[in-house]
Amino acid sequence: MTKPWFDPSEILIGGQWRRAGATLPVEDPSTGQSFAEIGRGTAADIDEAVAAAEAARNSEWGRLTATERGRILTRIGQAVLDRTEELAQLESRDVGKPLKQARADALALARYMEFYGGAADKIMGETIPYLDGYTVWTLREPHGVTGHIVPWNYPMQIIGRSVGAALAMGNAAVLKPAEEASLTALAFARIAMDAGLPPGALNVVTGLGEEAGAALSSHPGVHHVSFTGSVGVGTLIQQAAARNAVPVTLELGGKSPQLVFADADLDRALPFLVNAGVQNAGQTCSAASRILVERSRHDEVVARMAEAYRALRVGPALDDLEVGPLISARQKQIVEGYLAQAGDLDVAARAQIQSDAPAGGHYVAPHLLAGVGSNHRLAQEEIFGPVQVVIPFDDEDHAIAIANGTEYGLVAAAWTQDGPRGLRMSRKLRAGQVFLNNYGAGGGVELPFGGTGKSGHGREKGFEALYGFSTLKTVAAWHG
Ligand code: NAD
Repeated sequence: MTKPWFDPSEILIGGQWRRAGATLPVEDPSTGQSFAEIGRGTAADIDEAVAAAEAARNSEWGRLTATERGRILTRIGQAVLDRTEELAQLESRDVGKPLKQARADALALARYMEFYGGAADKIMGETIPYLDGYTVWTLREPHGVTGHIVPWNYPMQIIGRSVGAALAMGNAAVLKPAEEASLTALAFARIAMDAGLPPGALNVVTGLGEEAGAALSSHPGVHHVSFTGSVGVGTLIQQAAARNAVPVTLELGGKSPQLVFADADLDRALPFLVNAGVQNAGQTCSAASRILVERSRHDEVVARMAEAYRALRVGPALDDLEVGPLISARQKQIVEGYLAQAGDLDVAARAQIQSDAPAGGHYVAPHLLAGVGSNHRLAQEEIFGPVQVVIPFDDEDHAIAIANGTEYGLVAAAWTQDGPRGLRMSRKLRAGQVFLNNYGAGGGVELPFGGTGKSGHGREKGFEALYGFSTLKTVAAWHG
């Protein structure tokens, strides 16, 4: 483990690092042991962070041109690249994710900074034909102060996509990372400041959701709130923001399906089917937790996925196996509670946990379930653990009925060699992203992302996020 190059118990307000009044322990999910402390920020700290962000909007940061902001973001991207390995080690230990996934997350963070660095001066308004004697145009302006409440599953990626886009548009951000995984948020802020981000443009207050998080989402000085996490908390955040009449972006997870038709190229599909269920130990909002297979190939898909499951190795994050531990004892308990609802006959395969995995780690063996009905809780609710259900379907309509038959609508995929069928599926699937003959498109920093239904609303990633993190002003000039 590389020693952190910063003090994790400090929070960042107005360009100054300082200790919070109290601390919270940081647990290593691979061992269950605590190895550091983060600050427990309070509502008073959030007040100061919001004031510092507002002040930044009216000083150096607010005066920069879009090109200058872009340059700073690009520099931050390079600095993140330079520290990929340190960030990956930190994240791997803090979140319990295998090193290769943590490295991919660090690279994605760099990529977001590069993308939004390049995009910062490419968002333009338009001129609108209007009455004789008028010229009318639109301006894209920042909201002002943006609040970012981030979960523990992919801290670097989610900070990249939300803080990166907000800064590109000239907002000043207050970031509240998850109490379970705050280290890379603090490391990123350190990197960003060293790369020349002006004071107050990014403020980081670690702490508990119901303290610092609630204070941020309800703060009257915050002009936009971006949240990724659970449906329950997302609803609270929307209510809190509604009291100040400010917009929110909510990314709340899903029960995403991959549809495998009989004509699918199974050799190509198989790694995508399995990986989308067990990546990050299934703690992924866009996890493909439902695999829907045309009945004639159902048993074959189950058998091939089962074989892949049996080859999975589960162990400590820094051992860099295929699957690490879950984030916490609480999350393990939730997932085991779900697994207890599966009958023995439903379990098509169960991976093995390495025999030398530390006893205190939060390991759950990945489970492949077949035979669970599409209305069962296991096939309807987001488990947020390494559990996939395989469900047979008879034809296109049946597949769509099952695929769209949950409260969620985040991501979906169809595997078929019939081009027109793929296009029909892309129109009928209820999801914010649809993939044809692939899944996830390698992360896709450039691709707008977000949900429908209980998966949330608003879009992050790609250019679309820049519209979400800005507001439109129309100017009508009469000149006769
Ligand atoms: P959560 O929604 O409780 O926490 C996410 C973030 O919200 C954290 O930063 C937390 O501190 C903050 N928060 C918590 N309560 C808050 C409040 N009252 N006001 C403001 N902010 C608050 O998620 P969790 O406890 O980490 O996980 C619970 C479930 O959420 C998981 O089992 C999973 O189903 C889901 N989840 C989804 C995603 C996703 O990417 N969609 C990520 C993490 C968790």
